[in-house]
Parts: sequence; C-alpha cells; structure tokens
Amino acid sequence: MFETNPDIVRISAEPISMWNGGPTRRWAAVRCPEATMPTEYGGYVGNYVCQGCMEPTVGVYRVKRMSEVARIWVCAACRSPGKAKL
Ligand SMILES: [Zn+2]
Repeated sequence: MFETNPDIVRISAEPISMWNGGPTRRWAAVRCPEATMPTEYGGYVGNYVCQGCMEPTVGVYRVKRMSEVARIWVCAACRSPGKAKL
C-alpha cells in the first residue's frame, strides 16, 4: 500500500510568461497536478493563465486593450466584449 508524501503534494505551479510579451502558463520545476507537460527548457507546464482575470484557462486569445500599447493574452470570457472586465 502506497503512502502519500506531503512534501510532494504541497508542490504547486506558478504563472510564467512563455516569452517576452507571450502568453502566461502555469509552470513548476517538478511535475504536479497543475503542470504535467515537460518542457524542452526544464520543468513542467500546465494550463494557460488569462492575463486579464489571472484565472487558469484552457486557451488564450491575443487582444489589444484600448488603454494599453502592448497586446495581452486573455481567456474567452475576457475577450468577449459583452463580458469584458477590462
Ligand atoms: Zn480572463
């Protein structure tokens, strides 16, 4: 019978940018439930993170806010004009 190691369970992913100006994804140095996909530069990545509401999401869209010069990557809800909380 296996025992759960509390040190491993406590590991969690944190948001990082994939590149300068690129979308945000969850990343962790060690594989964990939130980050399961190994990367070529080390560690593991998981879901994208919306740069509008900062919530994890399955996909992001590149949009340009009226008030900002740079484009950002947001979830479908933030992208929709009717639900935009920008
Ligand atoms: Zn969002």
